Amino acid sequence: MKQLTHFINGRHVEGQSGRFQDVYNPTLGEVVKQAPLATQAEVEAAISAAEAAFPSWSAQNPQKRARVMFRFKELVEREMDNLAALLSEEHGKVISDAKGDIQRGLEVIEFACGIPHLLKGDFTEGAGPGIDMYSMRQPLGVVAGITPFNFPAMIPMWMFGVAIACGNTFVCKPSEKDPSVPLRLAELFIEAGGPPGVLNLVIGDKIAVDTLLTDPRVPAISFVGSTNIASYVYATGAANGKRVQAMGGAKNHMIIMPDADLDQVADALIGAGYGSAGERCMAISVAVPVGEKTADALIDKLLPRVESLKVGPSNDPTSDYGPMVSAELLAKVRGYVDHGVSEGAKLLVDGRNFKLQGYENGYFMGGCLFDHVTPDMKIYKEEIFGPVLSVVRAKDFDEAVELPTKHMYGNGVAIYTRDGDAARDFASRVQVGMVGINVPIPVPLAYHSFGGWKRSAFGDTNQHGTEGVKFWTKVKTVTSRWPTGIRSGAEFSIPTMK
Ligand code: NAD
Repeated sequence: MKQLTHFINGRHVEGQSGRFQDVYNPTLGEVVKQAPLATQAEVEAAISAAEAAFPSWSAQNPQKRARVMFRFKELVEREMDNLAALLSEEHGKVISDAKGDIQRGLEVIEFACGIPHLLKGDFTEGAGPGIDMYSMRQPLGVVAGITPFNFPAMIPMWMFGVAIACGNTFVCKPSEKDPSVPLRLAELFIEAGGPPGVLNLVIGDKIAVDTLLTDPRVPAISFVGSTNIASYVYATGAANGKRVQAMGGAKNHMIIMPDADLDQVADALIGAGYGSAGERCMAISVAVPVGEKTADALIDKLLPRVESLKVGPSNDPTSDYGPMVSAELLAKVRGYVDHGVSEGAKLLVDGRNFKLQGYENGYFMGGCLFDHVTPDMKIYKEEIFGPVLSVVRAKDFDEAVELPTKHMYGNGVAIYTRDGDAARDFASRVQVGMVGINVPIPVPLAYHSFGGWKRSAFGDTNQHGTEGVKFWTKVKTVTSRWPTGIRSGAEFSIPTMK
């Protein structure tokens, strides 16, 4: 059985804890590798390596750091097929989706290649007599990222791409469910000319996370994962004096207005609801048709499409989506569907007992479609994170806007309509961080920023874009006056910049 390693100071380091997490191929339902779970001392060793690398990395001029990012981008592009195969094997998402996962991360690396421009500070000449004032953004030091299983390439790159380009050194704690791709990215960073110790990776669980959250040498933590852990990471990190951004779970709605093109809507819902087996934080899990007529027509369009979804092995290019990541998540999602039935929602398509011939041990789940879901139901309130779409019927536009606005999650939302006024009003009023207008999964590009509201994100700074640069740097403002400018001796009153 292949054993994975940590990656500290540019080298593979075997796990010392004796504790391992099985890594599965979910298409086969078989253990394929073992991932070491780090001890506190191993995480501390990674922090020490990053600490030692910080002075020289942060002192490099930004264009030299950008050049490493350029080479890293080229290497990831060169390795795209291998990385996608590895990602697909451990996660279960289909190859085309795995490539999308890598590509969206690479776009953040592209953004980070522009770091010299992004780090330019402000300057005011003559802020007072003979006084200049300027501000600069400086890196924080050793920073850390803790990432979820569902985007093992994109989310680590969201974080370390910007953090490292800003001059920080980094400890990545990827999901222990599919750590091979982040491990490979750390290797490629060295091949790209990144100095050892700048990007370290430790595989681990709560022990590793708690070490990062409490070690005084780590001033900032970025987290993406489920809401309860995000809330814990935010509170614990903040209590330990750290800067924390912690992104959590989601329940993304799509509002369908009576004037929408229902063929387009059905296509969008199938892709956004069932793609990647629904294991996306921006998946649409709630469809909100406005008016009974729209709802009935939408169900007519959706039903045959959900029934004919092609669930298959992750490496089969004809599969619409592959297996769930684990037996636990499969059982949890089935449990939600059971619960929805007992709560009185109408299960129109039941994928619970789907079995794939030849892959009977794989963690496959067929698409499920619920109608007549209501806001008091558990299947509406909680994130399911599987191939399950709930239809909640709204009587009018205002009721439709209220649903995502009042929901405890506020990651993404979409509206489908031909009415510009309704779309504009919706985008302005809805209490959700990312809004799509006739776009089902409105994931902002790398030079904008990603972040939800309410219990979908704790902290106030988004991922990547200029928000990311702000998160990974601190501002220093210098007020300067040169001795030759002092002609009248000491001043004893507070200068007021007259
Ligand atoms: P998870 O919360 O189980 O794990 C995320 C990370 O936290 C992993 O690295 C894991 O090792 C660590 N962790 C798990 N339990 C812990 C504990 N008790 N103490 C400390 N650390 C712990 O999440 P997941 O199942 O890997 O990912 C799916 C979740 O992530 C979904 O809820 C999804 O919505 C969310 N997600 C959110 C976004 C976003 O940007 N908002 C993006 C992707 C995924």
